[in-house]
Amino acid sequence: MKIAIYPGSFDPITNGHLDILKSAAEIFDRVIIAVAHNSNKNGFLTVEERVGLIKQSITGFSNVEVDSFSGLTIEYAKKHNAEVLIRGLRAVSDFEYEMQLSQANSALCSSIKTVFLTTKPEYNFISSSTIREILSNNGDISKFVPEAVNTYLTKMKS
Ligand code: ADP
Repeated sequence: MKIAIYPGSFDPITNGHLDILKSAAEIFDRVIIAVAHNSNKNGFLTVEERVGLIKQSITGFSNVEVDSFSGLTIEYAKKHNAEVLIRGLRAVSDFEYEMQLSQANSALCSSIKTVFLTTKPEYNFISSSTIREILSNNGDISKFVPEAVNTYLTKMKS
């Protein structure tokens, strides 16, 4: 049973995240989306809201679940017997940070590997921060996020 953790902020989850997730769910037996309680980042949504929206967005996947965690991702992965961390790569600009992160995680626990996945080109530019920016300027986010997220955020804004 190959278990993979897909860690991140997911503030909010986007169609880009979902596309990565779809690939991960095809490759691994079980995928856990792990929403990080990040003390360095001021959240837009609470972790509970993010987890709730993810739950509503992953109903089509039978081997994916969602959870939240504090502390080191690698410790969370060990606790759940995961062998793999999933990260997504968009542009070259993601690469340096993601490379450092994966090497740091590997130095902490060499048996847990980071696997990088990419999205279809049409999802490549989508980031949670872009969604927040479009929303704050009253733009239409419906094409970029799961339906539950669009409904929730549009209602929140009005
Ligand atoms: P973090 O704060 O950990 O970067 P995010 O929620 O922003 O959390 O992203 C989680 C992971 O998903 C990261 O590896 C990020 O690169 C990846 N990701 C997010 N959006 C996309 C996208 N559109 N295409 C590919 N990967 C993505």
